[in-house]
Amino acid sequence: MIPGNQIGPGRSGLIMEEPLLWERGAKGRCGMSIPESDVPPAQIDDSLLGEGPNFPDLSEVDVVRHYTHLSLWNFGVDTGMYPLGSCTMKYNPKINEQIAAMPGFAEAHPMLPDELCQGTLRLIYEMQQALCTISGLDAATLQPAAGAHGELTGMFLFAAYHKSKGNKKSKILMPDTAHGTNPASAALCGFKPVKIAVNENGLLNADEVRELMDDETAGIMITNPNTLGLFESNIREIADIVHEKGGLVYGDGANMNAMMGITDMKKCGVDVMHWNVHKTLSTPHGGGGPGAGPVCVVKELEKFLPSPHITFDGKMYHRRTDLPDSLGRVHSFHGNFGVLIKAYSYVLSMGEEYLRRASELAVLNANYIKEKLRGYYYLAQDAVCMHEVVFSDKFQTEYKVSTLDIAKRLMDCGYHPPTIYFPLIVHGAIMIEPTETESLEDLDEFIEVMKAIAEEAKTDPDLLHNSPQRYKVRRLDETAAARNPRLTGGQ
Ligand SMILES: *Cc1c(COP(=O)(O)O)cnc(C)c1O
Repeated sequence: MIPGNQIGPGRSGLIMEEPLLWERGAKGRCGMSIPESDVPPAQIDDSLLGEGPNFPDLSEVDVVRHYTHLSLWNFGVDTGMYPLGSCTMKYNPKINEQIAAMPGFAEAHPMLPDELCQGTLRLIYEMQQALCTISGLDAATLQPAAGAHGELTGMFLFAAYHKSKGNKKSKILMPDTAHGTNPASAALCGFKPVKIAVNENGLLNADEVRELMDDETAGIMITNPNTLGLFESNIREIADIVHEKGGLVYGDGANMNAMMGITDMKKCGVDVMHWNVHKTLSTPHGGGGPGAGPVCVVKELEKFLPSPHITFDGKMYHRRTDLPDSLGRVHSFHGNFGVLIKAYSYVLSMGEEYLRRASELAVLNANYIKEKLRGYYYLAQDAVCMHEVVFSDKFQTEYKVSTLDIAKRLMDCGYHPPTIYFPLIVHGAIMIEPTETESLEDLDEFIEVMKAIAEEAKTDPDLLHNSPQRYKVRRLDETAAARNPRLTGGQ
């Protein structure tokens, strides 16, 4: 018996055996007819042709069926619940796609002079304003291509600021709950990341920061809510400590889905932050892109923002490049503009009231799951959570069932697994982020399935060790698949 009732293609994944295109078709079969050539054939030196690719001979229907089958192997937010913690896999409203496809946007050339693309510049300007309004900060750039790129831009801004003050700073503080991109971004910019252990409540300790914050330290990177799904309630006190020592505060905004319309980042003491519009602002993500990671800053840092910076003089929108302190470009043209259109459409269609409501419901949904699964799975922190909740496999270890087994079993039941083994400080972490776009019925069904799997762990651990059951491929060596992909048939 598979727990849950959603077991069709699209939610149960790899149930079809699908041969490679090289194993389909037959010699001489053809996908389309093209008219006879009306020019005489030219004599070609065979040695110039070389081996050539050994393409299979296929009909149109062979190709269409093959790719349609492959598309059914996909799992996406359009097929089912995707509770991947820290990733905010919310439903992406289709109206945003329609707006982004409008010819005026889709066909605009990025090198048009300002006077011929006032509409697109206005969209960028207004999106900058919107992100400043929601975050409470003063100025923005939309250029960075994703969260990690926003972090890197933020670290460049830290460096530019300290350089302008004649400061020599070499270190950046960050909690051990931080996403891996935080230390990577700091290090890429030449800073040494300094790890702070969070306290027994999973939060940063102000005293710890006070101790580590010295004259060499350029600032701190804080994710709020943090990756345990908890609100860093000391953030203002910590920001004051950092500011007193001449440092800056970076806010990793990946978890803004808990905060929209509720928390003012400037009042929290944040100087620079990024947005993950592909998380919080509903643009599609997964499969490697494209996303967008706009950065907002306080007034004092505005002059360092990347150029061109989009401004408005009351009559016209401009691409300003005459900014002597600017970092320069961090992306070609205007960043991933198509994604930014979708985010703009989302923000306008939601408005202040519904953005706040989205955050409230995201938090409510995560707490609902937390309370319903209490006792079935170990809670990493037994506290009110924000938009995500972190469990672990601690109750299941006595049956030798691990987080990986639970995640694989969920695939049998028609769910994308949650984020697992992150944050690193929770042994066997299972990080669930339902988002606000799941209905109560969908949450209840997921909860029932999670409870059924907890029961299976007791009664039939072997079943879990051998999950997924319903897939043609089961426990892949994921590293080998990434390092040595097999792209052609045969070998
Ligand atoms: C997703 C995430 C990032 C990185 O964002 P990308 O857009 O994937 O580059 C950084 N920090 C946290 C906490 C995240 O969840």
